Amino acid sequence: MSFFCVRDDDASYFTSPADLELAWGWWPHVLTLGVIPFSVETRYLPLPGRDHALHQLGEAEFAVSGNDPLCEHLRKHPDKYALAMHGCTHRYKLHGDRLKAEYDSSDAAFLGRETRRGLEELQRCFGHTPKVFIPPDNAISRKGLEVVHGTGFSYVQTPFPLKPDSVRWFLDYAGALHSWGGRLRHRLRHKAVDLRVCGSISKGIGAAILVKFDDETLLRERLDLAVAQRWPITLATHYWEMADASYRRKFASLTDDLMGKGLKPASMETLYCAKDS
Ligand SMILES: [Zn+2]
Repeated sequence: MSFFCVRDDDASYFTSPADLELAWGWWPHVLTLGVIPFSVETRYLPLPGRDHALHQLGEAEFAVSGNDPLCEHLRKHPDKYALAMHGCTHRYKLHGDRLKAEYDSSDAAFLGRETRRGLEELQRCFGHTPKVFIPPDNAISRKGLEVVHGTGFSYVQTPFPLKPDSVRWFLDYAGALHSWGGRLRHRLRHKAVDLRVCGSISKGIGAAILVKFDDETLLRERLDLAVAQRWPITLATHYWEMADASYRRKFASLTDDLMGKGLKPASMETLYCAKDS
């Protein structure tokens, strides 16, 4: 049986149950929510090379446990909303007109502190210890990977797919390529086989296929390749993108195609963390 998972990032103190219902009321299967334990506020700031202009740049932190309606909603529907951790605060640092993501840091003490307190907040709030970590902005340093792995997470997902399929691939994934060598060295040195880093060509190592509808033909080519190669598939989106009805229709058509090919929706923990997968 082949599976695929749906991943939705950025659920936080600022997310309402109505936001999630608008995005996912139509989807009768499980999806994995990347929850930010202590989100900072977003600020509007258009920057070159970014596809949206709202970034987590605030100072004050807001604990997800402070949003009772959201926490209750998620606790009530564990079969629909599987939980992953999406950073701790998701806070970006601004360097000129470039953003540095939270886990794109080499400060082990900072990373360790943030990872532990984020995990504790999710445990406190949901009574569950997630095994999947989704780095904010899909960016994580070698040190970040070591820390997250050492804290007990078994799977970190990055957007780095398995094989180049076009020249465009190198342009799309230049940022991910930059730290891939370091991550691979870490994985080999620590025999961290349970920590599945996208980008390995080894069988059984997870692949992430991100949903970007700006080039739907290329997206569908990649999905077809992944299905043919039996690579694990993640369709990644955000609930605020899914608020758009035309986006939901495209997403639904994609998931219909996958299910038509015999793939079944599963949580990221089921797909990426099962010992025998
Ligand atoms: Zn995010």
